[in-house]
Amino acid sequence: MLNKERLKASKIKYEQTPKFQEWKLGRKEHERLRQRQYRLTPRYTERILRYKRGIKLETFIHYSPPDGYCSECGFSDLNALTIDHINGNGFKHRRELKNISGVTFYRWLRNNNYPKEYRVLCMNCQFIDKIKKRI
Ligand SMILES: [Zn+2]
Repeated sequence: MLNKERLKASKIKYEQTPKFQEWKLGRKEHERLRQRQYRLTPRYTERILRYKRGIKLETFIHYSPPDGYCSECGFSDLNALTIDHINGNGFKHRRELKNISGVTFYRWLRNNNYPKEYRVLCMNCQFIDKIKKRI
């Protein structure tokens, strides 16, 4: 017990030495560099992409079951599908969501229990819809 306490005290003392501080800083820097390097690897990009695709797909499937395709025409390419606000310009939402897009938006939808006023539309249908509303 006494030994343990003495050990702890000497550890604290050691952690205050410049030598330790320097080592700690070095570790931090090393870790930072390692992280940055890791973000450049395909493994990391793949993971991020998979995560993004996952949350996107999850949102789309929620709004347009069972497969998340366009709710107007059934278009299926995830890259050209978007989440559309049914009433077009819900002012409050537009203000709230002004600065978020992509994954942040999908996460926002999920955190808000998927508000009902959204739907899945492909770019074509969204464009056509906009023109229709203008007429
Ligand atoms: Zn469509």
